[in-house]
Amino acid sequence: MKFTRRDFIATTAVAGASLALDVPAPAQGDQKPGPVGGPPKAPVIICAANGYAYLDRGYAVLTNGGDTLDAVMQVITGPEDDPNDDSVGLGGLPNEDCVVQLDACCMHGPTRMAGAVAGVEGIKNVSLLAKTVMEHTGHVMLVGEGAQKFGFKMGFRRENLLTERSRKTWQLWRETMSSDDWWGPGLASPKFKFPDTAGNISELYEERIRHMEKLAERIGIAPEFRMAAIERVLNPPTGTIHCSSINAKGEMSGATTTSGLAWKIPGRAGDSPIVGAGSYADQDVGSAGATGNGEENIKVCGAHTIVENMRHGMSPQEAGMDALKRIVRNYNGDMQKLAYVDMSYYALRKDGAYAGVCMWSGAAEKPRRLAVHDGNGKRYENSVALFQGKSLGWPPMPGGRRLAPEQKH
Ligand code: ASP
Repeated sequence: MKFTRRDFIATTAVAGASLALDVPAPAQGDQKPGPVGGPPKAPVIICAANGYAYLDRGYAVLTNGGDTLDAVMQVITGPEDDPNDDSVGLGGLPNEDCVVQLDACCMHGPTRMAGAVAGVEGIKNVSLLAKTVMEHTGHVMLVGEGAQKFGFKMGFRRENLLTERSRKTWQLWRETMSSDDWWGPGLASPKFKFPDTAGNISELYEERIRHMEKLAERIGIAPEFRMAAIERVLNPPTGTIHCSSINAKGEMSGATTTSGLAWKIPGRAGDSPIVGAGSYADQDVGSAGATGNGEENIKVCGAHTIVENMRHGMSPQEAGMDALKRIVRNYNGDMQKLAYVDMSYYALRKDGAYAGVCMWSGAAEKPRRLAVHDGNGKRYENSVALFQGKSLGWPPMPGGRRLAPEQKH
């Protein structure tokens, strides 16, 4: 049968018309948040503590009437560009193969659009790359080589993201931890085995540190960075930056960027590039994001859960605490395992109310914090913790530190 141009136009137009007729209008109130007011009197930005130095430039975008996602980008590209912040972008700690692989995602409240990239090598501002995917493609997420190629086509520069300091820290990890890595059944597996801690734990630990100090010297790690490098090997750090912002019109956006867990298996993507886990914004309700053990956060869709909780009337703090408790539930409250879970959430509601919550409070002298700017100057605030104490380094290793006795629910 011959199908003419006129037939094509006619069928397409009819299909379009029926599509338009078939879609029921959303029932009034379906998507309306619970008791959320708004907008706030002044713009508000919240972020992980490592964004503190860049809050002013993000805030300036908002007070000058700029876009909320542009404000977020002003904050999170700061640590991405900083070679000394080893949790994101340039200088991020590499994977098991000594390659830096970056993840990011973003959501723009006003247009309800999202973008994400995962496992990207050689491009430092993956937050901007995620935004570019959002703005210049019909997709939401690109990964690996494809994301990189897209970035180059869109004008991103290829850069060596591995700094000498990160490379030497990797070498220290590789030489120290040849048998204690990310392989084997994970914490959530019934086959998971706690490390053999026979013997005097603190002696084993001290001996290991002594050995590592010698190793670090041989590798050429600067004396002033040696203990920090050892800490990064024994407690592979979680870092990352999330940022959420709202302007005086009540428009909201959020984004998260990371180099992921240090020494991860190549190709591993955490929660940061997953829309709904690492970051989520709903223009009707609020914006939320996460830093910490991505594997745990993916399983509770943390950022989305928090926004949904706020939609149903919880305060930002209650909403975040509920997400943390879902992780606790996933482990049936097993504190021996939860001791290894590090998680922080950041929640910003449509009326400007906000909260930072965390699984573990951190060491007394270095509590978990968020950074805030709401027009009254930028500041740090302590996050509200579900448990008191410090989480343990992961992966667990023989001679690793035990849960401190004062850690309690
Ligand atoms: N959430 C990040 C990830 O799992 C890590 C972090 O926050 O430090 O990749």
